[in-house]
Formats: sequence, C-alpha cells, structure tokens
Amino acid sequence: MTDRNQTLFDRAKTVIPGGVNSPVRAFKAVGGTPRFITRAQGAYFWDANGQRYIDYIGSWGPMILGHGHPAVLDAVQAAAREGFSFGAPTEREIELAETIIGLLPSLEMVRLVSSGTEAGMSAIRLARGATGRPKIIKFEGCYHGHADALLVKAGSGLATFGHPTSAGVPPEVVQHTLVLEYNNIEQLEAAFAEHGSQIAALMIEPIAGNMNFVRASVLFMRRCRELCTQHGALLVFDEVMTGFRVALGGAQSVYARLIPGFAPDMTVMGKVIGGGMPLAAFGGKRAVMEQLAPLGPVYQAGTLSGNPVATACGLATLRLIREPGFFEALSARTRALVEGLKAEADRAGVPFSVDSEGGMFGFFLLPTLPQNYAQVMASDAARFNRFFHGMLERGVYFAPALYEAGFVSAAHSDADIDATLAAAREVFATL
Ligand code: PMP
Repeated sequence: MTDRNQTLFDRAKTVIPGGVNSPVRAFKAVGGTPRFITRAQGAYFWDANGQRYIDYIGSWGPMILGHGHPAVLDAVQAAAREGFSFGAPTEREIELAETIIGLLPSLEMVRLVSSGTEAGMSAIRLARGATGRPKIIKFEGCYHGHADALLVKAGSGLATFGHPTSAGVPPEVVQHTLVLEYNNIEQLEAAFAEHGSQIAALMIEPIAGNMNFVRASVLFMRRCRELCTQHGALLVFDEVMTGFRVALGGAQSVYARLIPGFAPDMTVMGKVIGGGMPLAAFGGKRAVMEQLAPLGPVYQAGTLSGNPVATACGLATLRLIREPGFFEALSARTRALVEGLKAEADRAGVPFSVDSEGGMFGFFLLPTLPQNYAQVMASDAARFNRFFHGMLERGVYFAPALYEAGFVSAAHSDADIDATLAAAREVFATL
C-alpha cells in the first residue's frame, strides 16, 4: 500500500519549508513521517491513509470539547453566513470580552487578537509602555510565541533544533530580556535586586506546557507576585495554554486557591477562547489597558482581530465549558488517563511520573517530576521516541516531542482511555 502521508510530506517539502507550517508538526524530534490529517470528529482524527487516532493534542489545546461539537459547528456556520470579516466592530466581540472578564476576576478589559504570539508580543509592548521601563523577565522552557524579544532560550520547537535562540534576532533586540531558571527563587531575587527599577514585566507560564508539564511551585509563585509588587513590575500570566483548560478560571484560579488574594496584573490568552479558530487575547486592569491605541500611546492593531466567525466559535465553546460539572468530569478523565499510564509503567518497571490539572497533562520517563527545563531535557529521548511511535502505531496520538504537554477533551470516553492504556501496556513491555 502506498503511504499517502509520505507522498503528501514529500510534496509538501517542495513548497513549504520542512513540509509544515509550524515546526513541531514535522516529527523532527521523534523521527518518522508526520501524519497528514484529513478530518476529525470527537476524540479522534484520521490521517491520509485512513488510519484513526485517539487525539491527545487537540490542536495543542483549543479542542477542549473534542472535534466538531454540533453546537459549535452550528454557531460557526451561522456566523459564516452573516459574513467572514468586516473590519468594523461587532456585538460578539463585546460578548466575548464580557465572558472572559466574567471568568477571570483579575481582568477589567481585554483586547482580542488572532494568535498567542500576537497576544504575548502586544502584552510586552503594553507593559513596557505602561511602566516606561525596558526589561522583561522570562523563564527558560516557557514559550510565549515567537516575537523577537521572547525568542531567548525558549522551549518547544526551538529545543529540537538545538538553538539557544533564533537566527535573525539581533542581540540588541533581546538585550532587555532576562532569562531565568523556572522555580529558582534565588535567581529571581537576584534579578530583581540588580534590575528591579528597570523591569516592566515578569512573564510566566504558571503551569508550563512548553517543557511538557511543569508547575510553578507555590513558594516560587508567591515570590514572583511579591517581587513584582515591591518593584512596580507587572506580573503577566501567559495562559494561552492553561486558560479555560486547567480550570474554568485558568491557572490563576488554581494559584488563587493556594495563595490568598493572589492575582496576576495581566493575562495572555489563546487556544480555548477561539475553540480552534484563530483567536487570542490579552487583558488586565483598566488603567493599564487604556494605554492602548486609540486611547493611549501604545500602538496595537489587527485586520482580522475579533473576527466574527472566530468569536462565534469561541463563545459557543466557552458557553459549553461553563456548564455545571464540566471541569470535574474533564479532570477526572484526565487523571484516569495519567494514573492509568503510571500504573502500566510501574507494572513494566519503567521509571515514570505524571501530573495533570483539568484537561491538561504531562508524563515523563523520569522517576520524579521535573521542576525546570534542564530536568525535563535530561529525560531519555530515545526511549520517549520508542514510546511515542509504539503508541502511534496502535492508533494513539500523543504530542510528538517529550517537552510538550498533552490534552484530554470532553469527547474522550472511558473506552478511549481504556484503549489507550491497553496500547500503553503493550508498548511499555517493549521499552
Ligand atoms: N504562549 C503559550 C503558553 C503557548 O503555548 C503558545 C503556543 N503553543 C503561544 C504562547 C503562542 O501561541 P500561537 O501559537 O497561537 O502564536
């Protein structure tokens, strides 16, 4: 049988760099032929050979309801009939902004954009504009999109290629970006002691999903909050992945339960708020957000921002995840998956650790959970790749790199979890 995936990959490579439009899709870390997807429904997608997979990436987070939810589909079809894009404001943009603000009490205003990269880049510009300061802190292994100033030892796709940063970014552009180790309080304190008055923002993935799944410790997060407050820097939560995914109120609600009164100053969002359509946002307190054009001096704009079809998709998605019990059920299903994987690994004597929050999870071929990027990258990559391909052959699609998180949707059934664990039992036995 001809391998249609391979045929398409060969064809793609002649006209698209690396054959893909986003690097991690190329299977560069794990080797082999990327699967070209033809369609998706519920918890599954099908490749060009007609092979079905249980999908644990969910478009890297957005597909929290599973693929093709009928209510979302209806909303998108109705919106598309009304018009694809107007370049003028619509009521749905207000509704989506109101919905987001209703779910995240730390926000008073939001601006809608089209990608997480755009949201992160704009948040940094706004933080710098609002504080009049140049420096930003980011953490090794956190990815905030590919804006120049943030491409400094980022995790995700870059780690595969072994570049500490991207070519094409002059050193002057990143000279104000301080890169610190995640969960390292000493480094954090030293950075503020030395540069405190110059720091506009500290940007962090509160539960990092771009070095697999690594939580900021409560002590570390509390210190981030204290030092930002003390030095007048803005604490910016990148919740592109965690927002409306680890809990209805995002990772900030998880930390607010553990640290009384906790809230970030700004939040960057994407993925779930668009339900699979290009939509992202950033928001914060009114006084900061009103620094944006057309009110203030910080420029930011977008032809397709607040796109009417994308906002319809996002609103329909957010409506469904607000239903009572949604996150309880999603969390339970996700825990069943990771705890089941752990049990299978233990049975086979494979060192393994797992973590999850809401519908987001991570697993490591390591005996204990890592706390930072270096610890994640100390995993046995060859062994991970064998695990990945073993599962793929059995119709289970996990993220094709050991430094990526995974996602469960509301469409994943007990039978899907059971099938995944049965496949894992076979694969662990071969590791
Ligand atoms: N921030 C985080 C935490 C992300 O995970 C991502 C993408 N995976 C981004 C920002 C960038 O978003 P986008 O790919 O939509 O530009």
